[in-house]
Amino acid sequence: MFNRLVRFAGAIAVTSSLLSPLPASAQGARGARTPIKVQWLGHAAFEITSAGGTRILIDPFLSGNPSTPDSLKVLSRYKPAAILVSHSHSDHALDAKAIAVSSGAMVISAYEWVNTLGLPEKQAMGGNVGGTFKVGDVTVHIVPAMHSSDPGGRPVGFVLEFADGRTLYHTGDTWLFGDMALIQEMYHPNVILIGAGGGPYTQGPADSRREIAKYFTPQVIVPMHYGTFPGLATEAQVRAGFGGDKRLQVLQPGESRTF
Ligand SMILES: [Zn+2]
Repeated sequence: MFNRLVRFAGAIAVTSSLLSPLPASAQGARGARTPIKVQWLGHAAFEITSAGGTRILIDPFLSGNPSTPDSLKVLSRYKPAAILVSHSHSDHALDAKAIAVSSGAMVISAYEWVNTLGLPEKQAMGGNVGGTFKVGDVTVHIVPAMHSSDPGGRPVGFVLEFADGRTLYHTGDTWLFGDMALIQEMYHPNVILIGAGGGPYTQGPADSRREIAKYFTPQVIVPMHYGTFPGLATEAQVRAGFGGDKRLQVLQPGESRTF
């Protein structure tokens, strides 16, 4: 593992989370604010594009996703630098391998699960909580999530740190948990992509709102993981759950916004 990391250190600088966290007062202090483009692909799937043009795909459940527009189910259209997978359940991981094979992108997720994919070493970027990967002009931090992952690995979330010092947090599937206070303390997420669909497996809108109120101070909240299947919260229920919070930005599947 160590040799593998060293071998690819030229292209992908992997550090051990020694990057100093930004104090809240320093947000954007590295220079002018640069755009972060967020496209919701339905459910927990997003494509994030940095100001430097780095494309990062998160939780690519597309070809079998009832809420993904047909044109976005065509896997050959995706040319990301990296594919981040929060855990191995098919509603997050379904198309990760196929897109990695067609695009040559690296896959960043829990080490044990990444190792099951049979990808070339240069694409198999297994990690774990606390791990950090450099992808183009974006730094990806792996943070905990409270869920399960089967087969293999463990559930995680991701914090993406951009060149202007701003950060985006994709929660993965989780309930709110106390260590979110550390995610706020260390990374101060400016944009949060937050699970809000409820049902049997994850938190619903009320707990999502509680999570934000208790732990975070983002400028933008993008709800996800709702409306995909029967039993998950509807858009109306998500909006109602956030009670008119002006930071809530509800996207439609396929829609992009730049923050
Ligand atoms: Zn899920």
